[in-house]
Amino acid sequence: MNYEAFFRQELDGLHQEGRYRVFADLERRAGDFPKALLHRDGTTREVTVWCSNDYLGMGQHPDVLRAMHQAIDLYGAGAGGTRNISGTNHSHVLLERELADLHGKESALLFTSGYVSNWAALGTLAAMMPDCVVLSDAGNHASMIEGIRHSRAEKKVFRHNDTAHLDELLSQVAPGRPKLVAFESVYSMDGDISPIAEICDVADKHGAMTYLDEVHAVGLYGPRGGGIAEREGLMDRLTVIEGTLGKAFGVVGGYIAASDALCDFVRSFASGFIFTTSLPPAVAAGALASVRHLKASSVERRRHQERVASFRRRLDEEGLPHMDNPSHIVPVMVGNPVCCKIISDRLLDLHGIYVQPINYPTVPRKTERLRITPSPLHSDQDIECLVGALCDIWGEVGLLRTRAVAAA
Ligand SMILES: *Cc1c(COP(=O)(O)O)cnc(C)c1O
Repeated sequence: MNYEAFFRQELDGLHQEGRYRVFADLERRAGDFPKALLHRDGTTREVTVWCSNDYLGMGQHPDVLRAMHQAIDLYGAGAGGTRNISGTNHSHVLLERELADLHGKESALLFTSGYVSNWAALGTLAAMMPDCVVLSDAGNHASMIEGIRHSRAEKKVFRHNDTAHLDELLSQVAPGRPKLVAFESVYSMDGDISPIAEICDVADKHGAMTYLDEVHAVGLYGPRGGGIAEREGLMDRLTVIEGTLGKAFGVVGGYIAASDALCDFVRSFASGFIFTTSLPPAVAAGALASVRHLKASSVERRRHQERVASFRRRLDEEGLPHMDNPSHIVPVMVGNPVCCKIISDRLLDLHGIYVQPINYPTVPRKTERLRITPSPLHSDQDIECLVGALCDIWGEVGLLRTRAVAAA
């Protein structure tokens, strides 16, 4: 086989379908978020980032940076091993306690990313419980899908947020079999929120465990940033709550929070937990500072929601079509992959605004979009620049502005 030719041919396929991914080479500037320097063709220029998952700008928060600097000076760079062999540092232990408390659970367990936490926890739980059936929401993230696949357990996919369908599928499973319902609270691309209480009701009726991915909600919702389940007083109804330290908490890493026995079980059997070097202590210390800050402070959350509402209002006034949802994620709908790429290119080239286009297969065809994530640090002027640029480009590429939306 001509290996190189094979790789190139597969990449050509992606290019032809307009699915080839091009990375923006950014230099984030601590203290200047959401501004960043864009490196391209040997030059740099300042851009405003409008698609970051550092939702609250905690990646530059003084508490977080101070904790990380101090931890590097005190503990050095790396963790020095896997958790079992010399790699458990006191920062990991403190962070796990903090996360357990955040979610009102007995224990928490850290992983190197949110992806790994879903993959390893779901993979291990579903593989090891004899004859387990996993009920998976159709909109679930790739990390959950891969974890379930890896477990080789039987999987039934219920229609997105459809509790009647979940009930129907659970009714078909023999009552004695272990069952695990896996779903998210805030879905990343449409920004919709699942009916957690109703899903728990159905799960309870059938004696099923519940596994909730709160990756796009931790730090952002609830009085202490515990997520949607905290906001709705439902944390005790979930068997497992999974989160990331890489989005609203602004650092990196993932975790599950659950009972002592469940966390100990995953700790003891999950290959993706056991056989990998643990997070650098400075990362754990930074995450700890971030979680602690957002537990005590709601300023960032309030300002975040206000910025999102202001941005939506301006889109409505200008008739720019966006998907309405109850979260902080603002999908501005384009509905065509070529157009979506052109708009994103023009925003960057002509206006210094960076929004990555979201195309198939991340979202269904004809729902191509700009996934815009306002932060507490986007100013009124930033919003005006973005809305003005979108209006210009909408006209240039001949997309419709929906006055009807503005009227409503
Ligand atoms: C980003 C994401 C993850 C993975 O989290 P990382 O910490 O980035 O690995 C898991 N679930 C969902 C729904 C996500 O969007």
